[in-house]
Amino acid sequence: MKVFKVFFWGLILFLVSSSFSKDNITPKNIIIFLGDGMGYNHIDIASYYQFGETGKQVYEKFPVKLGMSSHMIGGVVYNPDSAWTNFNYVKKRPTDSAASGTALATGTKTYYTAISVDSSKTKLLTILERAKMIGKSTGVVSTVPFSNATPAVFVAHNESRYNYREIAEEMILESKVDVIMGGGNPLFNHDGTSIKSERTIGAKESYDIVDGDTSIITDIEETFKYVGGKEVWNLLIEGKAGGDADDDGIDDPWKLIQKRDMFKKYISGETPRRVIGVFESRQASQIEREDSLDNGEPFSAPLNENIPTLDEMTLAAINIIDDNPNGFVLVSEGGAIDWAAHSNLLHRTIEEQIEFNKTIEAVCNWVETNSSWDETLIVITADHETGYLVGPGSNREGAETISEIWKPIINNGKGKLPTVEWFTKGHTNVLVPFYAKGVGSEIFRNYIKGNDKVRGEYIDNSDVGNVISNFLKK
Ligand SMILES: [Zn+2]
Repeated sequence: MKVFKVFFWGLILFLVSSSFSKDNITPKNIIIFLGDGMGYNHIDIASYYQFGETGKQVYEKFPVKLGMSSHMIGGVVYNPDSAWTNFNYVKKRPTDSAASGTALATGTKTYYTAISVDSSKTKLLTILERAKMIGKSTGVVSTVPFSNATPAVFVAHNESRYNYREIAEEMILESKVDVIMGGGNPLFNHDGTSIKSERTIGAKESYDIVDGDTSIITDIEETFKYVGGKEVWNLLIEGKAGGDADDDGIDDPWKLIQKRDMFKKYISGETPRRVIGVFESRQASQIEREDSLDNGEPFSAPLNENIPTLDEMTLAAINIIDDNPNGFVLVSEGGAIDWAAHSNLLHRTIEEQIEFNKTIEAVCNWVETNSSWDETLIVITADHETGYLVGPGSNREGAETISEIWKPIINNGKGKLPTVEWFTKGHTNVLVPFYAKGVGSEIFRNYIKGNDKVRGEYIDNSDVGNVISNFLKK
């Protein structure tokens, strides 16, 4: 079996390498970090809290630093002059994780709620599907349910991001992806506590902690939607779910893991062929971990210790797919930066951003220890900004210049909450940051769309999808 595997990958490598001309760049490994809802200021508030200053994040020293526009079809094409004269311009018809994620995953702009289908609802080839076609391994990791829009756009195709059951079903039963990790666990509450029995499972999106005696309306369809329905979940538990991921004609069923210890175990050593990790929360990993979501200090409420961190999941995912001599493409999402920002929760936004930052740092160390920047490309960006997070006193009457209209966030020093003001509970179309380092990273500079007077040169989210798609052409 092992000899066959070596032969199989060797053959693929030969076929792949012989079909490229010498000047084509093909990174062996591509790791994409998506901070959902992460604007420039989300990075800054975490930096003030972590270090007392900006510029200290590992990715802020990356050689390629650009802005990125993220408007969708039906949205407003980013115009730097309008964005910096009219405060409310970027709040008009903002994009969403599904539409912007599809552009990042396929290079094609689409409509609100589309999961890797175009505006005529035709399926689009994603970069993870392209990676599979040239023999690479692939994976998606998130701090929110794995069938949520951002992980979904890389693996599934659906006319609506809200068809969770169908999306999860496609990811589990039909896709060729090798690793899926995220929330959505039907047997746990949103705060990471266990549900005693199926009869007490709640039907609502958000509900109080269920104790053994509390009876809440049972809705099996609702409860199991994030994992593709009850039948798919049972197949996962029995180790029978999953099709042929490597085109050898033999099914590659998923190994399901749920406990944090198992995620941590796979950070090193031998791993199963395909792993789906559904951590012990019905929703996100940490953001809903206590009854009260009132603003407080970061990390003042104890973390859900039974749930893996994003860096644990991402390093485990890398260890599962890094044996392939053709390399891999992995997407790691800080999904709850967006959720915290939707609620304008400063302390939780900072927590989630710090988790994302730490993961990138850990993976940069992995590159330098186990790979190199000559064979691995890291891209870090966002799908859109959430919350219109700016400094206090912004958009006051009579303000005329940029520095009068957009006040800076107040840095109160390391370990202290900065002073901010939020201007929406939704998304905005402001430019989001884009960072890249490693093989092929300079190519993104060939796609500059314009020069923003505050953020500098910027590309578009569809450019990211197109550049990476070109790296993965047969
Ligand atoms: Zn959002």
